[in-house]
Amino acid sequence: MRNARARAHSGAAAEIQQSDEQWRKELTPQQYAVLRRGHTERPFTGEYVHSNERGSYRCAACGSELFGSDAKFDSGTGWPSFSAPAIAQAVELRPDNSLLMHRTEVICRRCGGHLGHVFGDGPAPAGDRYCINSCALAFEPAPPAHGRDRPGRPGW
Ligand SMILES: [Zn+2]
Repeated sequence: MRNARARAHSGAAAEIQQSDEQWRKELTPQQYAVLRRGHTERPFTGEYVHSNERGSYRCAACGSELFGSDAKFDSGTGWPSFSAPAIAQAVELRPDNSLLMHRTEVICRRCGGHLGHVFGDGPAPAGDRYCINSCALAFEPAPPAHGRDRPGRPGW
């Protein structure tokens, strides 16, 4: 099992290559376990499960923009769920046959970090559900709208 996983990950042509030791220093123990070891956080424990603020979700390891709040939906599974990535090329999909299941792993293309899995029980029309660990994400709220909604605008 360990070897199979190591082999699958060594095939990644990630843009950011750094040693396991560096990742271990930069990430929290939980982020390291998920992003670099492919673990899954316990359902309903992540900070973004029920979040519906407007903004974008970036990779917690490298900052690459991965998912937008407009694609987020409440799947009831206990993990943040998205119907599609913000930019298709930002993620890489890879078959994952660990744990005796046929799943598709979702990986950050820039750093090779494990984000979660994609399942086929999402909303129409595509039917995809990107089931992503909260701790693999860093939320960035959308900037305030330009123009008249901005409070305290000078010159009026
Ligand atoms: Zn990344």
